[in-house]
Amino acid sequence: MPTTPAKSAPPATDPASLSGASDPSAPAPLLVVGSVAFDTVRTPFGSGDEVLGGSATYFSMAASFFTRVRLVAAVGEDFRDSDAQPLRERGVDLEGLERIPGRTFRWEGEYGYDLNTAKTLRTELGVFATFRPRLAEPLRRSTFVFLANIDPEIQLATLRSVRAPKAIALDTMNFWIEGKPEALRRTLAKVDALLINDAEARQLADEPNLVRAAAAIRRMGPSIVVVKRGEYGAVMFSETGVFGVPAYPLESVLDPTGAGDSFAGGFMGHLARDGRLTPESFRQAVVLGSVMASLDVEDFSLKRLARATNDEIRSRYQGFRDLTGFSELA
Ligand code: AMP
Repeated sequence: MPTTPAKSAPPATDPASLSGASDPSAPAPLLVVGSVAFDTVRTPFGSGDEVLGGSATYFSMAASFFTRVRLVAAVGEDFRDSDAQPLRERGVDLEGLERIPGRTFRWEGEYGYDLNTAKTLRTELGVFATFRPRLAEPLRRSTFVFLANIDPEIQLATLRSVRAPKAIALDTMNFWIEGKPEALRRTLAKVDALLINDAEARQLADEPNLVRAAAAIRRMGPSIVVVKRGEYGAVMFSETGVFGVPAYPLESVLDPTGAGDSFAGGFMGHLARDGRLTPESFRQAVVLGSVMASLDVEDFSLKRLARATNDEIRSRYQGFRDLTGFSELA
């Protein structure tokens, strides 16, 4: 991903002016492929049974506050039209959501008091075991692409169908690092940015030190590596150096599911809406990613993102500025 302004870059926008999100005639440059799932989740503070989840779902909900999002995924015959209602209400384009024979992807996980690490109890691929997306023409013309956590072969097939992407980012997890290492390496070689959590960055690079792990991953392809560190914040490694933010201080965290995908939604949503790929825009993207993750974790499933407002996003963005601003030493 170049860090100099693109030729056709629109004028710089204020990160806190969330225009364009609900205008149906606005361009829809952001495409996401990933899972749409039924999740069963237990945390020390409650549980959810077969609730709507999935990497592409959380991503789309969060990114929809910044730009129009086109979702590519598959669901099974057990998925009802009404299940997609939260996405529809946020104006997410569901033309690329295919219903095919089989069962919808299911994930079951639990968290202990350390809400940073999910323990996967069950992964049922369902329709994703055979799904290979066929993108319709308008989707092939998308300019910003997010390959959310799913089989790297599906990520690669999607990427090959997009004609001239301006920026491509990727997320993955231990399930695919262990299960499809070669396909993941091929996909990684083609992306501009990797967004990944700290344990998985260490695993992917086979390197315990995060700084060295990020450097090793950057040699595999992506020029930008953003490491998500749960309640400890996020760190971005790029050719211009290292940029870090803490997590937003929250009194109540109920369910961390989808925090990583929501982070990615804020990050890519901002870049797609802003259009510039400058170091400044990337820094804003890391903060807006952190804002969207902080909202997501405050309730189960998509509940909190569904009731978030532009004002809240603006005010948390400012909260990050207050949290991290300090003056020079005399
Ligand atoms: P996150 O908490 O942001 O890392 O992502 C949680 C979401 O990822 C859940 O809603 C799950 O449905 C989804 N998920 C879990 N495992 C996988 C997997 N192996 N492939 C794709 N999506 C997954």
